[in-house]
Order: sequence, then C-alpha cells, then structure tokens
Amino acid sequence: MRFTPGFLDELRARLPLADGISRRVRLKKRGRDHLGLCPFHKEKTPSFTVNEDKGFYHCFGCGAHGDAIDFVMRSENLTFPEAVEQLAGQAGLPLPAETEREGRAPGPGLHAALEAAAAWFEAQLRAPAGRTARDYLAGRGVDEATRRRVRLGFAPDDANRAGVPGVQRMVRRDGRRRGVRGLARFDTTVR
Ligand code: ZN
Repeated sequence: MRFTPGFLDELRARLPLADGISRRVRLKKRGRDHLGLCPFHKEKTPSFTVNEDKGFYHCFGCGAHGDAIDFVMRSENLTFPEAVEQLAGQAGLPLPAETEREGRAPGPGLHAALEAAAAWFEAQLRAPAGRTARDYLAGRGVDEATRRRVRLGFAPDDANRAGVPGVQRMVRRDGRRRGVRGLARFDTTVR
C-alpha cells in the first residue's frame, strides 16, 4: 500500500469535507448535512449532499458517492496518489517518505512474482516431464544438490500450451498468498 491507513485517516481528519467541496460547489447547510447542486450531473434542484460526520458526499440524482479523496479524483480527474498528494499539500501534512511507498521501483510484489515463477520451473525439472533434462544434467556432472543450490529449472516443450498458463496460475495463486497485486503486468511479460 502506498499510503498507510493511518496517514489517510489523518489526512481526512485534517480537511473538513464540506470545506474542500465548497471550493467547487455552493453548499447550504441543511440539518446535519450540506446540500448543493451536483457537480457530476446536470440538475436544477439540489440532490448533492455532504455528510461531514460520516465524511462522505452522496448524490441522490446520479449516485455519485465518496470521501474527500474520491471527490478530488473525480472532480479534477486525478489518480488516487495525485489526489492524496494535493490534499496533503492543502492540509500541510508531510507525505510519507519515499521508502515507505511502493510503486516507484520493483517492490516486494515483483520479487514474489519472480520467486513464484522460478519455483514453478524448478518443479518442472523435478517432475516426470523434466526427466530428459535431469538425465542431460546428470550426464554433464550436475547433481541434484547443485541443481537445487543454483535453482535450475526446466521449461517443458509444451510450455506455450500448458506451461505458461500453469506458471500464470501458480504465480497468481502464490502471489495472492503473498499479498501481491498487479500481476497483470507480469502476465503480459510471460505471454
Ligand atoms: Zn449527481
């Protein structure tokens, strides 16, 4: 996760929702809510409400719904990190240090995906399909201990039919177990 839940909670707590929204929407207080014309669809009678206590806006006309971050993303067409950075700037809240954030460099997710792929090829070498490869390695003086130590693997001939879907399934399953997200990019590389 790029921003911790604690950081996002602090950000939401520092910025009253109605203040942020009233930069774009003229709001009138009605009871505990604020009411205004929805910025996300055309309307003449207000159906856009802001509930400060719960920290969300809701439009009864078009169903638009979300918190302060969603509002900035949607009204300014920003990504989640961009919206968070903008709001953090307004709130005077320092952004987490780069090292605490993922997404800039290959992170644990990519390493886990590669680890899962390596393990799959190793398993193919130990499997019946890898017998010819094992015999070849034995003929070259590479024993099992060495194979394990340097993590040799085997790509079966039918890799395009069975192997690649197999490794994708395994990477997905193993990735989920390790909390990996964003494997689509890896799949594209494998394919
Ligand atoms: Zn609406």
